[in-house]
Amino acid sequence: MNQLLDVQDLRVSFPGRGVRARSLEVLHGVSLSIAPGEVLGLVGESGSGKTTIGRAVLGLVKASGGNILLNGQDITHADAKTRRALAREIQVVFQDPYSSLNPALTVGDILSEPLIVQGATPRDARAKVRTLLDQVGLPGDAAERLPKEFSGGQRQRVAIARALAPEPRLIVCDEPVSALDLSTQALVLDLLLDIQRETGVSYLFISHDLSVVRHVSHRVAVIYKGDIVETGPARTVTLTPEHPYTQRLLLAAPVADPANQEKRRAERRRLIEQQRQQDEHAGAA
Ligand code: ADP
Ligand code: MG
Repeated sequence: MNQLLDVQDLRVSFPGRGVRARSLEVLHGVSLSIAPGEVLGLVGESGSGKTTIGRAVLGLVKASGGNILLNGQDITHADAKTRRALAREIQVVFQDPYSSLNPALTVGDILSEPLIVQGATPRDARAKVRTLLDQVGLPGDAAERLPKEFSGGQRQRVAIARALAPEPRLIVCDEPVSALDLSTQALVLDLLLDIQRETGVSYLFISHDLSVVRHVSHRVAVIYKGDIVETGPARTVTLTPEHPYTQRLLLAAPVADPANQEKRRAERRRLIEQQRQQDEHAGAA
C-alpha cells in the first residue's frame, strides 16, 4: 500500500545528564503509518514518547535507528535544504497557542510569511490570508490584529491557518486542544475535522486523552513507555481495547455516573497493579 508517512522501527535516544551518564532511549523501535487522507491518533500518558515521535517526523530530533519515509522517500537524515522543502509537505500545530505565535507580528504577517517564502506576491498572499482566515472561522479583520488580542481558542485557529498555508499533506497536531477549556476544545476539534474532510490532509493527531483521539481519528496507535502496544480502527481500540494499558487509559477517562466511576476506579487499580507486576517481571527477565 502506498503510505503517506511510514515510520519504521524508529529509535530515539537523548544524552544523559553529566559526563558519564548513559544516554537514555525513549523510543524503542516505533512503527506506524498514515495513508493519504487518514487521521492517525497517537495516544499515551505523559512522558510515553508522543511528542518525540512528532518531533522526529518534523526533523527536530535525530533518529538513532530506523527510518522515516514520506511518500516512499527516506527523510530520516534529510539535510537542511531538503527539510526546508519538506516544510511544504509537513506542518505542525503545537499545544500552546500562547507561545507558538510570534507576538510581534500581526496575524496577517504570521500567515503570509510562509506564502511569501514560497514565492507568492504580497497581493496573492493577502488574498490567500483572507481565504485561510475564513477557512478557520476567523473574521477578515483578524489579519490586522496581534496574537495577544485573541483568546486561546482563536489563537489556535490562527495556528491551524498557519499550518494550512503551504497546503501540506500532513499536519502533526501535538495536543492541539489540551490547553483549551472543554467547550473550546469541542469547537477546535470540529474545525480540525471539517478541514480534514475538505482538504484531504492527513493528521498525526497526538493526545493523552482517549476520548479526544476517538473523536477525530480513523485509526489509533497506543504508545506505552516508548513502545506501540496496540494499533487498530479508532472505535475498536478506544471502546474495546485489547492491551491492559489501553484498558487503563479508557478507564481513566471521566464518566458522569459516580457509582460507575467507583467501579472503574477499582478496575483501574487492578490493571495498574497487573501492569506493575508485568513490568517487574519484564525487568527481571
Ligand atoms: P509525551 O509527549 O508522550 O509526554 P515526550 O516525547 O515529550 O513524551 O517525552 C518522552 C520521554 O523523553 C520523557 O521521559 C522525556 O523526559 C524525555 N525527553 C523528551 N525530550 C527530551 C530531551 N530533549 N532531552 C532529554 N529527554 C527528553
Ligand atoms: Mg507531549
